[in-house]
Amino acid sequence: MVKETIRVYARVKPLGRRQQAGIYSVDNDEKSLSSLEIIVPRDLADGFVNNKQESYKFKFQKIFDQEAKQDVVFDNIAKPVAECVLAGYNGTIFAYGQTGSGKTFTITGGAERYSDRGIIPRTLSYIFDQLQKDGSKVYTTHVSYLEIYNECGYDLLDPRHEASRLKDLPKVTIMEDPDQNIHLKNLSLQQATNEEEALNLLFLGDTNRMIAETPMNQASSRSHCIFTIHISSKEPGSATIRRSKLHLVDLAGSERVAKTGVGGHILTEAKYINLSLHHLEQVIIALAEKNRSHIPYRNSMMTSVLRDSLGGNCMTTMIATLSVDRRNIDESISTCRFAQRVALIKNEAVLNEEIDPTLMIIKLKKEIQELKDELMLVTGKQRTSELSQEELLQLDELIETFIEDNDPDSTLDVGADMRKIKYCFIHLKLMNDSKMTDKNLPLQHNSEEKDTNKEVGEEELKKLKELLQQRDNEINVLVNMLKREKKRAQEALFQLNAASAGSTVLEQSLCVNLEESQSPASSSSLKEAKDFSSSVHRPPFLSRQTGGKMSLGCQEAFEVFKQDHADSITIEDNKELLKQRYAEAKCLGEKLNKVRNTINHLKGEITQRHIQRAVLAISSPSEELNTLDPVEEQLRTQIEEEKKSYKTMFNRLKGLKVEIEHLQLLMEKAKMKLQKDFEVWWSEEAQKLQQEKPEMVSSSNTVTVYPQLRKPSQHLSINSFSETTRVSPSEDPAGKNNSIISSNPISKTRTPASSSTSIPLTGDSQADADILAFMKARQNILQKKGLGNK
Ligand code: ADP
Ligand code: MG
Repeated sequence: MVKETIRVYARVKPLGRRQQAGIYSVDNDEKSLSSLEIIVPRDLADGFVNNKQESYKFKFQKIFDQEAKQDVVFDNIAKPVAECVLAGYNGTIFAYGQTGSGKTFTITGGAERYSDRGIIPRTLSYIFDQLQKDGSKVYTTHVSYLEIYNECGYDLLDPRHEASRLKDLPKVTIMEDPDQNIHLKNLSLQQATNEEEALNLLFLGDTNRMIAETPMNQASSRSHCIFTIHISSKEPGSATIRRSKLHLVDLAGSERVAKTGVGGHILTEAKYINLSLHHLEQVIIALAEKNRSHIPYRNSMMTSVLRDSLGGNCMTTMIATLSVDRRNIDESISTCRFAQRVALIKNEAVLNEEIDPTLMIIKLKKEIQELKDELMLVTGKQRTSELSQEELLQLDELIETFIEDNDPDSTLDVGADMRKIKYCFIHLKLMNDSKMTDKNLPLQHNSEEKDTNKEVGEEELKKLKELLQQRDNEINVLVNMLKREKKRAQEALFQLNAASAGSTVLEQSLCVNLEESQSPASSSSLKEAKDFSSSVHRPPFLSRQTGGKMSLGCQEAFEVFKQDHADSITIEDNKELLKQRYAEAKCLGEKLNKVRNTINHLKGEITQRHIQRAVLAISSPSEELNTLDPVEEQLRTQIEEEKKSYKTMFNRLKGLKVEIEHLQLLMEKAKMKLQKDFEVWWSEEAQKLQQEKPEMVSSSNTVTVYPQLRKPSQHLSINSFSETTRVSPSEDPAGKNNSIISSNPISKTRTPASSSTSIPLTGDSQADADILAFMKARQNILQKKGLGNK
């Protein structure tokens, strides 16, 4: 890298014949910088009084005075730059000065003499001369010629537009890439393999430039021209390419707009020129200032194109062309001032080396092949970029072993093969990634899964063992099946029993009741009903009162009383009904027993059937086991039917039982009433008898029992006569009731009839009393019936 400030030279144009030279002095010191002193004479307008002279001193790298020849200028200014460009650095030589100060003459040269050739042809000559001399490198040379006029670029080397005007030349535009590198679109790069070709191209460009220039439109003075020589070099066999370019710039005239003194179109042009140079000046000022971050390169096309030349990767040289005649002295001073600022700019030129990608690929391929060959020699195996299927499987196994190995010192050794090492890393990465994706699941997920898999495997093994065990015991299975069938049959029987359990319980209870009813010892009511008419029943109260015994007279009287008592008819009717109901119940009970026996028999048959089939299953194929037995089905249907009739009969029996119980209750009550009525009647009759025949009562043979009979009547009242009203009219027809009422001895014959019949007394007081009472009662009854003796 070469770090240096822009070299600034000054060249003074020879004065014309009619030009008055200004006062200036040039001090060219060989060892140090040269200095130019310009003395501005006092303007006559200021008057003669003021004799003061103004002196301006400027420092330059070298000052070429009017006599300086083109070759000297080239040798001093351009040659060193050309040498740098040949070495691979970028270089720029630009001429700055007012119009007519010799910029074009210096850069391009005069058209009249060969010796007036300027820097461009001399440089081209020099470069190609040097390229021919240097056989160590391969050089490629291109040239481009750009004219910038009014911020527009034109390609001066386009052969198609040789005879056209400037505006008809191809327009060149600036393109900037992401790295802020400037590219000129449409600027042709013409290859020049030798000096002649290059000079022809220069001539072409200069011709285009000249044709475009008209006397009225002095484009040359108002446009910038940049001739660029592109050199690329590389050493044979090397991939390194050095690219460098040399800008040889003929700038527009630096004269100020004010000085043109013209308006309109010309003024506009002048303004543009100055504007473009103004931007150049701004860039140079910015570059001269320290810590200035922004350089306004983009403000004009010219500064954009010369970006690298100004403050960048370039060795730049400036030639300040000066007209030192009196009229142009101010402009010369201005040019010198500008040059002084440019001289402050530091550039950093670096070698522009690039690696040729095509060459690099070829080189690397060759290297790879050499390494492969070397590796094959060492390993004895042909190495391909892909691993074989076998190698991949081996690697998978190695990785699995490595992961499962709990030893912390375990290693994964795949040998010195980068393909295998890379594969392992990728494999492990993928495993890790899959683990990361399962992050939501518990950390123990994998281990749990493994455990689960193990458990599943163990369970499967266990099942298989069990299956084997089962097959080993196949012989025993038949026996077990027989046992099971027997058990099933028993269970079926049990279920059938259980199904009829509810009805059986009821049935049994009913049967017990019926048996109880039939039993002479336990049932009193039915027995009494049964024997009501045939045997003399002793009512409890009578038995108590009489010590369990009723006197014969009383018994006879009761019998007579009973026969005439209206309630006795009801009792008889009920008795008859009860008899019927009982017979019916008995018949139903017998039928129920029969049905029950039938059902049990059918159940037994089904059980037998089960056993038979179970035996059959052992002896013959088991296919019939699962099929339905039609016989069993028929038996079951029969059982169902029997059960239905059993249920109907059972319900009927249940109703009969309720009816019988009710009838029994009615008869009991009727008997109670009869007894009470008899007692009342008996006591009344006895009382009457005593009143009518006191002697009989007071006699020793006569015992008054009436007071003792009061208690039973109280007892009867407690038993309530009203309860007899429970008998429903249907059960106790109205006619019967009426007859009862009409024939009621109590209601109608409350008062016993006077006894006219003599009663033979026995001497036993009790017996005599009974006889007397009986006789009295009998007489009353007879009287009532109209049969009594009056
Ligand atoms: P510019 O390009 O700066 O406008 P030119 O290079 O066109 O000026 O010069 C104007 C005239 O002066 C041209 O005719 C040119 O030949 C002449 N001239 C300039 N410099 C010199 C020089 N050093 N020696 C001889 N003639 C020169
Ligand atoms: Mg010119």
